[in-house]
Amino acid sequence: MGSSPSAANPAPDRDWDVVVVGAGPAGALAAFDLARRGLRVLLVEKRRFPRWKVCGCCLNGQACSVLAAVGLGGLIDGQGGVPLNQIRVGLGGRQASFPLPDGRALSRERFDQALVQAAIAAGASFRPHTSARLGAADARGRTVHLRPGGGRPPGAGGETAVRAAVVLVAAGLAHRCLEDEPGAGVHIQPRSRVGAGCVLPAGTGGYTPGCIHMAVGRRGYVGLVRLEDGRLDLAAAFDRPLLTEAGGPAAGAARVLEQAGFPVPPALAAARWQCTPALTRRATPLAGERFLVLGDAAGYVEPFTGEGMGWALTAAAAATPLVLAGVRAWQPALERQWIRTLQRQVGRRQRLCRGVAALLRQPVAAAALFQLARRVPPLPRRLIRQLNHPPAIAGAPSPVYGPVPCR
Ligand SMILES: Cc1cc2nc3c(=O)[nH]c(=O)nc-3n(C[C@H](O)[C@H](O)[C@H](O)COP(=O)(O)OP(=O)(O)OC[C@H]3O[C@@H](n4cnc5c(N)ncnc54)[C@H](O)[C@@H]3O)c2cc1C
Repeated sequence: MGSSPSAANPAPDRDWDVVVVGAGPAGALAAFDLARRGLRVLLVEKRRFPRWKVCGCCLNGQACSVLAAVGLGGLIDGQGGVPLNQIRVGLGGRQASFPLPDGRALSRERFDQALVQAAIAAGASFRPHTSARLGAADARGRTVHLRPGGGRPPGAGGETAVRAAVVLVAAGLAHRCLEDEPGAGVHIQPRSRVGAGCVLPAGTGGYTPGCIHMAVGRRGYVGLVRLEDGRLDLAAAFDRPLLTEAGGPAAGAARVLEQAGFPVPPALAAARWQCTPALTRRATPLAGERFLVLGDAAGYVEPFTGEGMGWALTAAAAATPLVLAGVRAWQPALERQWIRTLQRQVGRRQRLCRGVAALLRQPVAAAALFQLARRVPPLPRRLIRQLNHPPAIAGAPSPVYGPVPCR
């Protein structure tokens, strides 16, 4: 990897073709894909980079296909991504393993940084540690207010404004960059789980590389995977009452692992845990005058075998033709087209995941589903295949979106 993105390409200009808010997988890939087509792209990120984030760190077949399609097929292996070929599910003390199509485990520090680096190499300007907020639209573009220092409160000084023909809002789960947009809001599902995660040091025993370990408990699940440097990533989703009762995410995770019959790593209690806001949510609007919303910013569904980044990357690649059209001349029809595109590209797969997640929350249904999956292996294989299937993106050169391995 080259120099740190923080030091690269200062962006003194005021007018941009595209401002992308958020440098997670959705934003960084969109910035890359648009910059390599010659657009003037500013990528703004609230946090310092590279940054850690609660995530299972598993890139599924869909994610790998999208990366290959935009010419970044070697990115994950170049960063030492660990090949994944199995998911081991534990429920009620029983366990079963199912094969996975080609996937990779890679820490978010490395993956997101490598994507940002690719965007910079393609010509995008990157402004980390800067918070963005959507301003007013006029005939020439959208104003975006930039505040240095990430989360500093409005009015803290140093705020500047830039203008873009199109803004991509890829600011993740609980962003506030649309707070001045009339009618913008978020619907959080009642009883939505909260996420939590930590990373345990290399040498923590009990979990083999190349396998996603998924412990399903009565009031939450914990996913564990070995990262490129041997550390063990833990990502969990808990019912809120479990966290309160257990006294925190470490004890909550220990309970879920015990219920699933997985070993409880001794380092769990001493680890630095981070929690997320309520997970399952739907954002509105998904598009407006000169802006499109994508990735987790558009809504969140509990992932099953590592789908969130695949959806975020798919949406980013799918946005390209609309952004190209919008930079030439913004039309309200693009807003409707984006909503249909999101629905087609990620909405269907999210419905499937939502259904599985809902079943796994009912103890009797979850046990029955688990037994069925153990007895009839083609069923889980088919479900996993469907979730991993490469997307077909309108406007992409046709051979690119075939099923491709993660290398
Ligand atoms: C417990 C858990 C486990 C998961 N496991 C997996 C998994 O194994 N595989 C998988 O594929 N997915 C997984 N996911 C989902 C995955 O983490 C997300 O779907 C993915 O990160 C979405 O990418 P994104 O680019 O939309 O958002 P993010 O990755 O959240 O990036 C958004 C960025 O925007 C920045 N930002 C926010 N507000 C502003 C602002 N105002 N101005 C500038 N920048 C801003 C944020 O700092 C952040 O860096 C998991 C999620 C959870 C909670």
